[in-house]
Amino acid sequence: MERIRSNSPCWCGSGAKFKRCHGNRRLLQRAPVALGSVSPPRPVPDHIVRPAYVAGDATPPRTVQVQDDESLARLRHACRVAAEVLLVAGDAVAPGVTTDDLDAIAHDAYVERGAYPSDLHYNGFTKSVCTSVNGVICHGIPDDRPLEDGDIVNIDVTAFIDGMHGDTSATFAVGDVDEPTLALIETTREATLRGIAAVAPGEPLRRIGEAIEPFARSRGFTVVREYGGHGIGEVFHAAPHVHHHVEPGDDLPFRAGMTFTVEPMLLSGGTSFTQADDGWTEHIDDAMPSAQFEHTVVVTDDGAEILTVTADGASAAGTELPVSGGRVA
Ligand SMILES: [Zn+2]
Repeated sequence: MERIRSNSPCWCGSGAKFKRCHGNRRLLQRAPVALGSVSPPRPVPDHIVRPAYVAGDATPPRTVQVQDDESLARLRHACRVAAEVLLVAGDAVAPGVTTDDLDAIAHDAYVERGAYPSDLHYNGFTKSVCTSVNGVICHGIPDDRPLEDGDIVNIDVTAFIDGMHGDTSATFAVGDVDEPTLALIETTREATLRGIAAVAPGEPLRRIGEAIEPFARSRGFTVVREYGGHGIGEVFHAAPHVHHHVEPGDDLPFRAGMTFTVEPMLLSGGTSFTQADDGWTEHIDDAMPSAQFEHTVVVTDDGAEILTVTADGASAAGTELPVSGGRVA
């Protein structure tokens, strides 16, 4: 798949040039997101078990996470809770709702299920989800800025329960969002599922980036190189580092039982970004929107299975590849 050029016919089949259709930068451009004020951390009832890092204790080594039947059952539970919390929080997205409101809704949803929000007091983060609006590529801190009609917001949920972390995220449209930005969202969703579909035992880790990056470029988007997926299970952020761009040296073979995240961030403009003074929020420098989706997956005997789904197999991040129509996991 070739990178689309601005004067090429748009990938959507409209017949218009890309730069006047889905590549229209004037439609994509929006004002930089101003940071609001952040409310205090929300309390977690004492009976809910915390990860070791919350008390400042050492975490287990960040080695590749491989599950047996017993540990996979516990990880499935954590991932199911994460999928449920993401659906609850995503349902609340609307103009006028603040990202702090989303944090409160997600927080209650974790606690109702007996789970600890893994983000809370992780390396000094003080909220229960990350919320990244428009040109914030990741790690946005929920605050009192009301979502505006036409915004997009990624909600990143990680649930800790039964000694396991389950991690998932999705990007949601706020009210009426323009078509080029909706295409960014749907391309990122599809890129995530294509990356997951490329996983198979014995194949090298780079298959994920090989599935994601050329697809993103064919639609005029770029893939963030500085952030990747990660091994997950007993440890929140473990090996391997999962690149979403093509990295020829990524030759670690997948093997059955390995668990990690696939979570590409796609950009619609330039690729340089700057961290805000809060030490977390990553703002893209040209204020063009970025989107992200994330699933936690396990390598199976013949592919990969998405773990971050509800008991009914649902997920706000999607599980079905639109092009093939086939279920990925
Ligand atoms: Zn188009």
